[in-house]
Amino acid sequence: MITLENVSKIYPNGTEALKNISLQIEDGEFVFIVGASGAGKSTFLKLLIREEKASFGKISVNGYNLMKIRKRKIPYLRRTMGIVFQDFRLIEKMTVFDNIAFAMRVIGAPEKTIKKRVTEVIDMVGLKGKEKSRPNELSGGEQQRVSLARALVNKPKMIIADEPTGNIDPVMSFEIMKKLTEINKTGTTVIVVTHEHNLVREFGGRVIIINGGEIEIDDHLPPRKPSSPGPAPAGAGASGSYLKGEIK
Ligand code: ADP
Repeated sequence: MITLENVSKIYPNGTEALKNISLQIEDGEFVFIVGASGAGKSTFLKLLIREEKASFGKISVNGYNLMKIRKRKIPYLRRTMGIVFQDFRLIEKMTVFDNIAFAMRVIGAPEKTIKKRVTEVIDMVGLKGKEKSRPNELSGGEQQRVSLARALVNKPKMIIADEPTGNIDPVMSFEIMKKLTEINKTGTTVIVVTHEHNLVREFGGRVIIINGGEIEIDDHLPPRKPSSPGPAPAGAGASGSYLKGEIK
């Protein structure tokens, strides 16, 4: 669970990137964070993974008080989350298998467990048969699926995806989003940061729009198609339609 209470972030140069933000994200939610460039989305993510510390307010993430957490505890906070980056961040010299296994090796998992779990997540993201390929032998969509498998391999409570579809084509973007909704259905919290309003409209769900460091809208949007993830949660009423018009 994520709780922010009156959180502000002022960078050393005086830029107020987030202004008095309060929100709560429950375990198991699927949330889009949307906003134009410079709105404060990356700052929000950096606060969640404690790459940056809030200037004011209170933040807790998966049981950790981020205003008080000690440096040596930060890796444990980060183990509760899997992160998917826009630019994949795969290791070029390593095979698909090893890129994913690496995330387990750094926490000292036994090789037997690694083999079983890596095979499982490769299957989950639809990359069976690609275990021995290297990133440069894969399409952008496939590389993003490797990065998703790596994020999932240690069974995090939460997946944070930062512009996961920014470098892949629309068909693959849809596939990645579908995978994220499937993962969400197994109980994992999913937070997707994006500026692609089309995807948000397609999939619906909770949408938090950040504008100029402030939350402009926090509401539920119904999915556009029946093939998209589940029914809109309660509350997707009049304001949902407003959002529909809002997101172009
Ligand atoms: P987004 O991810 O939505 O593009 P950011 O969180 O990166 O937005 O940026 C929000 C605001 O904070 C912008 O005005 C940006 O220039 C500023 N900003 C981001 N990082 C820093 C930093 N390290 N130092 C100073 N200002 C920053």
